[in-house]
Amino acid sequence: MKDTSLSAIPQQLSGPRITAVDTYDIRFPTSRELDGSDAMNPDPDYSAAYVVLRTDAGDGLEGHGFTFTIGRGNEVQVAAINALRPHLLGRPVAELCADPGLVSRDLVGDSQLRWLGPEKGVMHMAIGAVVNAVWDLAAKRAAKPLWQFLADADPEWLVGQIDFRYIEDALSPGQALTLLRRGREGAAGRAAVLRERGYPGYTTSPGWLGYSDEKLTRLAEQAVADGFTQIKLKVGADLDDDVRRMRAARAAVGPDIRIAIDANQRWGVAEATEWTRALTEFDPYWIEEPTSPDDILGHARIRNAVAPVKVATGEHVQNRIIFKQLLQSGAVDVLQIDAARVGGVNENLAILLLAAEYGVPVCPHAGGVGLCELVQHLSMFDFVALSGTTEDRVIEYVDHLHEHFEDPVRIVGGHYAAPEAPGFSAGMLPESIATYRYPDGSFWTADGAAVQAVVA
Ligand SMILES: [Mg+2]
Repeated sequence: MKDTSLSAIPQQLSGPRITAVDTYDIRFPTSRELDGSDAMNPDPDYSAAYVVLRTDAGDGLEGHGFTFTIGRGNEVQVAAINALRPHLLGRPVAELCADPGLVSRDLVGDSQLRWLGPEKGVMHMAIGAVVNAVWDLAAKRAAKPLWQFLADADPEWLVGQIDFRYIEDALSPGQALTLLRRGREGAAGRAAVLRERGYPGYTTSPGWLGYSDEKLTRLAEQAVADGFTQIKLKVGADLDDDVRRMRAARAAVGPDIRIAIDANQRWGVAEATEWTRALTEFDPYWIEEPTSPDDILGHARIRNAVAPVKVATGEHVQNRIIFKQLLQSGAVDVLQIDAARVGGVNENLAILLLAAEYGVPVCPHAGGVGLCELVQHLSMFDFVALSGTTEDRVIEYVDHLHEHFEDPVRIVGGHYAAPEAPGFSAGMLPESIATYRYPDGSFWTADGAAVQAVVA
């Protein structure tokens, strides 16, 4: 939806302002190839509720951000972003980029919209899209990729970007400052290492539930040949199938490659325990999303029961407060941040700091549309200027849809190469937007499926 109310904004002589907040419903027909199929999501159409912040700065720079969804409901997500527009239109660009935390707090604190959360669900994801667009613009104006923009920032300023409300019992501003100051020691050397060899990744491409055993085996062998040291399999629909697929995957990759398994919330606590134990002979590295992302104590019980198999979760964890409790209760071995699920960079900084405080490795969720492009920046910042290590840390990689991005991820020898272009790598190609806009993009118009869906 285009905004045309610019003339209503009082213009002052204080520099450029946000002049438009344009949103787009973009959907890719991925369900037709069973790409992305898992036990809970059998037919995803990978989608983005996409937002562009435009300014009158005359420098050609825009802020791009998005939330990932899997098809139906993407229009609801777009509507949620549209509801935030009044907070942004007319705002001075310099102020916005100097303190993204200010707009983050304004959006989270909207006294009426807050009722739709608070800090969870569609509205919070919309805030994440907008906040990430602000960071994209800020990093572009600083002419740095976001990871470097964050790594170069003063620790005091970074602490000021974080909302400590509800997490201060686990992480105080003083503790955060200590972690960030410590993280700065040796940062320049680690940035050089990062540029040289990248950040380790793992691939989920072999393991979608809808793939045949032959395709699974072929892609698993390819993953090892490509330099990955970890792959992931979707599980949880049928135990006999999972035993057979795990056996095939282990045979394909050998004993030294880590195989993570992912149930996408399919189970209750008891079933998660039994099912994971039934696959233990194939040495799974972690069980991901064994149950509801809200069940903190359930994760703790599962973790106790399935050790030494690790428990991982986070891609559907709604905010820093749940992450805090997962850590406080010893419920997880691996924390999986998502760049577009919580309230954007500011909240993910809080989560990275919580993980650092508790000494739990962060292995981000990615894939979907553009999630790899975004989240690599957060892990790279974490390596360079916070945790200082990539040990037992890997970013998920899925080889889908990168061709639609202006600055797509580059994988070299199983590692994410450090982005060099300024910004958050969020920009989608204009022709991709024109083709896959729903329901009026050229793909959907020609396809006819969208029209039928609307009529139905
Ligand atoms: Mg997952």
